Amino acid sequence: MSMDKEFALAVEDLTVSFDGFKAVDGLNLYVEKDELRAVIGPNGAGKTTVLDLICGKTRATAGTIRFQGIELTRMPEHKIVQAGVGRKFQNPSIYENLSVLENLELSFPRGRGVFGALAFERTADVVERIHQVLEAIFLAGHADTQAGLLSHGQKQWLEIGMLLIQDPQLLMLDEPVAGMSVSEREKTAELLKRICQGRSVIVIEHDMEFVKRIAHRVTVLHQGKLLAEGDMDTVQNDPKVVEVYLGH
Ligand code: ADP
Ligand code: MG
Repeated sequence: MSMDKEFALAVEDLTVSFDGFKAVDGLNLYVEKDELRAVIGPNGAGKTTVLDLICGKTRATAGTIRFQGIELTRMPEHKIVQAGVGRKFQNPSIYENLSVLENLELSFPRGRGVFGALAFERTADVVERIHQVLEAIFLAGHADTQAGLLSHGQKQWLEIGMLLIQDPQLLMLDEPVAGMSVSEREKTAELLKRICQGRSVIVIEHDMEFVKRIAHRVTVLHQGKLLAEGDMDTVQNDPKVVEVYLGH
């Protein structure tokens, strides 16, 4: 199958085996541009491992991962980032001692300066871009707040902002609303709906109300395999999905 022209991300026959245990087993996954795909499934289904494989943290045993026509399957992690893939882990990795603004500045993609050192210049463009991201992640009023003093939800938003600064074409988020309050979840839904415009977004999430609100399509994993895929209604009413996941 060659579907690169229609799909931004094309994952085919993806398999990873840990000492003979297949955490991901023959998975096909196609995501379009402007699409927000939710990935759901019971604990241990292989959801996080799929993201690990796409971002190069874990190497595939078999299969291919192509993004915008580029094969990522054996690329080193930093090249995958350069190819436009950004990934947020379950626990926010922010610099707690620095301000919100400084965290965003540190995430800004930088070129090599005259002495070969990594150069960061606070140009008007950079300032404007950081301001836009601050607004988008609901932290415009907290630019100078020390990141460690933010609420758990605000820390999650800051880390999303640190990825947005790099303008990834594929953004992957692992359980972004875990531990968030109801109002933080609502704002995060709005944020994700906005940021999937012009890129592809994959979100792993257990909160079905949240998934219903944001997802264009839902992929259900079970034991490393694709169990079901489709819009939320289709997936929710699929007896296989109810049996292994939603019924519990
Ligand atoms: P999920 O995110 O859906 O809860 P994971 O992708 O984290 O599931 O894990 C899928 C399965 O693969 C689990 O049984 C887990 O223990 C196993 N697994 C994940 N990473 C490794 C690894 N590096 N080595 C061995 N087993 C792993
Ligand atoms: Mg997981």
